[in-house]
Amino acid sequence: MPVISVRDLVKTYTVGEVIVRALRGADMDVEAGEFVAVTGPSGSGKSTLMHILGCLDRPTSGRYILDGKDVSRMSKDELAMIRNRKIGFVFQGFNLLSRTTALDNVELPLLYNGAAKLKTADRHKRAMAALTAVGLADRYHHYPNQLSGGQQQRVAIARALVTQPTILLADEPTGNLDTRTSVEVMDIFQRLNVERGITVLLITHETDIAEYGTRLVRFRDGRIQVDQPVLKRRDAAKELAALPPPEEEPAAAPAAVASSVEHGGAV
Ligand code: ADP
Ligand code: MG
Repeated sequence: MPVISVRDLVKTYTVGEVIVRALRGADMDVEAGEFVAVTGPSGSGKSTLMHILGCLDRPTSGRYILDGKDVSRMSKDELAMIRNRKIGFVFQGFNLLSRTTALDNVELPLLYNGAAKLKTADRHKRAMAALTAVGLADRYHHYPNQLSGGQQQRVAIARALVTQPTILLADEPTGNLDTRTSVEVMDIFQRLNVERGITVLLITHETDIAEYGTRLVRFRDGRIQVDQPVLKRRDAAKELAALPPPEEEPAAAPAAVASSVEHGGAV
């Protein structure tokens, strides 16, 4: 049984007198453990699809079966419950709370997760485990502005993981990141997919990022134009091992500046 199954999915937005047909009949099945890269030009319906698959929105028509349950017509409250239990989100802009530490950002979904009702100590433990999974346990006390873009995105991934979702939805998660950092983030997604069996749907307009998936789905004008396996899958861990070591952390920069000033003074 597929974990995600959509049939003739249609989403129409009406803005004033303009009707936007964002999805015009999409059919797709996703098996547990797949890593689906969703690509397509801007405006082709990728984010609309993700909102529906993530139970943030409902289709105008068509069916969405999630884990064998028809969620297409569920109420907002029912959708919220399913979302909290099964789905983690990662966005392009990280969406972290700026006055809140990494640890508190990661704990946040546990506060809304009514079913769990965890004690404070258990929340900390779960959040630290999630930060450890993304390699950021030592930064738990940092605020977002004390972290690089890649680190912020890793905190956001930890936040998505903390509720132990079976599906991870990511919308352009590398859109604001440089090349090396993008590969690091893809390494995390590939590990979560392979080691934990989390089903990943990754939206990207970058074709090279799509090659980290096992399957490529390309949208055009609200329809699926291409749906095929990725034949030569990229391996982020291997690529990272082959890259030169990362540049110095921002915290080390002032020392370098100071020594060059000293040097200049000596001339
Ligand atoms: P993509 O993520 O592929 O760039 P989107 O799914 O965001 O595409 O958008 C598909 C189409 O739907 C676009 O024409 C966009 O302008 C429109 N659209 C998306 N969200 C809304 C909304 N909330 N209200 C009105 N139109 C929307
Ligand atoms: Mg989009």
